[in-house]
Amino acid sequence: MSSEQPPKRPERAVKRAAPGALTAAAAPTAPHVASALAASSPWAYSPAPESKELALIRPRYGLFIDGQERAPASGEVVVTYNPATEEPLAEVAKGGAEDADRAITAADRAHRKVWSKMEPRERAKYLYRISRIMQERSREFAVTETLDSGKPIRESRDVDVPLAAAHFWYYAGWADKLQYAVPGRRPESHGVVGQVIPWNFPLLMLAWKIAPALAAGNTVVLKPASTTPLTALLFAEVCQQADLPPGVVNIITGPGEMGMAIATDPRVAKVAFTGSTSVGIKIAQGIAGQGKALTLELGGKAANIVFEDAALDQAVEGVINGIFFNQGEVCCAGSRLLVQESIAEEFIARLKERMTTLRVGDPMDKNTDVGAINSRAQMETIGELVASGVAEGAKLWQPECVLPTRGWFYKPTLFTNVAQSHRIAREEIFGPVLSAITFRTVDEAIEKANNTAYGLSAGIWTEKGSRILQVAAQLKAGVVWANTFNRFDPTSPFGGYKESGYGREGGLQGLHAYLRSS
Ligand code: NDP
Repeated sequence: MSSEQPPKRPERAVKRAAPGALTAAAAPTAPHVASALAASSPWAYSPAPESKELALIRPRYGLFIDGQERAPASGEVVVTYNPATEEPLAEVAKGGAEDADRAITAADRAHRKVWSKMEPRERAKYLYRISRIMQERSREFAVTETLDSGKPIRESRDVDVPLAAAHFWYYAGWADKLQYAVPGRRPESHGVVGQVIPWNFPLLMLAWKIAPALAAGNTVVLKPASTTPLTALLFAEVCQQADLPPGVVNIITGPGEMGMAIATDPRVAKVAFTGSTSVGIKIAQGIAGQGKALTLELGGKAANIVFEDAALDQAVEGVINGIFFNQGEVCCAGSRLLVQESIAEEFIARLKERMTTLRVGDPMDKNTDVGAINSRAQMETIGELVASGVAEGAKLWQPECVLPTRGWFYKPTLFTNVAQSHRIAREEIFGPVLSAITFRTVDEAIEKANNTAYGLSAGIWTEKGSRILQVAAQLKAGVVWANTFNRFDPTSPFGGYKESGYGREGGLQGLHAYLRSS
């Protein structure tokens, strides 16, 4: 196998960032600063690193096709890096169209001969088994996810992994009750499902897609993102451990074109994609006229609306969670703060105070709040958009904090004086950057919240129940949280309007997406 050249090592994160974006950063000290706060700060914590040894990462991974690990047709590999250290983690097979063809052949055969013929309650047992194994191996999954993606271990341990296991558990319950999902009609699987997932929640997006697909009787060919393949490959081991029949789940790593080869293959009856709007459009165009079912979960520019009667400290926490969870690399991130003018000054002051307590740094440290940005390319996107915010006249603020000297890190960033026309108010930044806008009346808040090409999520902060109902009904967003944010549950549907895509994942609606009914 030949290896691709590793990408040129980027300069230090603080140097790469946009002009003006990181100028407040103090000189970095040690290569791994667990806390971004000065040691004298009352918020400074001692390092509490999770053990890397828990992740049994192999030096090289093949493709998972027909229940076995196989070499890619090209014989080539790509390297996946730890974004927090820029060190290589493993070599991963570089699949292509020929490998996609082999995986689809295996999935097609498994669907026709095994999975669609199996008693639904037997299929359920496999899903329960997968969920149990994921729980048993949860620490291994959490550490692998954090090393490969840069997200804080606290989040992979407490959110990504348990939620992923919960999705398999939840959909296992549906597997033998499909007739109740489509009352009066006969539920049928689509057949082979092609799934392409992104890098921000690698394991969770896999679970959102594979669990309902299998419960509904489909077989799967899944392509993880190139920068975060490892938990999907660990999941392949779980499929083997659970004795899942060969070909029911196939996981193939490779570039974006391979994702398109999967989506457009005529044997693939349903496609599910999560990622950027631009690639979502390409996939929709690529399969147009083929009669395939398609769900697209794309970007967002959510408004987190804070009314003057809100419990301010709780709202501050919600806004912090809304934008700094997973470094803001979240499609439903509350990246636009809409705050009522009467409380704006006080709210922004409290928000800044809270931002100074965020611990930015080593994702493997259990105290870290904001980990590493997933890739150099994403760092550049964030830097470019932050620079545009400064150039267009918004006011940038960042807390004093020390970033690690290696790895891709970005300071928590707040923009005030933001106009709705600014790029930072319109485009998905996918980083720890919040744009604050004020409003005076309820109608103005609704109008501004809806003034976006996206429609994935929104948040409302108020003590008044009737206002929650009044505002939520008028927001054009697939998910509206009230006095909370970023709450996920396997029973709850998730998806968007407008450029955020179509179709729902999670809950009964997420199951419908994987069923044909006659
Ligand atoms: P992409 O949309 O390019 O990547 C998502 C997935 O699609 C990856 O598996 C990728 O593979 C694959 N892919 C890329 N090109 C194609 C193609 N032509 N056909 C089929 N599949 C393809 O996102 P990026 O990583 O480029 O991120 C860019 C921006 O997208 C971010 O800044 C963010 O704004 C948004 N985004 C939104 C996400 C969401 O959850 N809604 C998730 C990720 C990004 P590969 O990794 O091999 O390129």
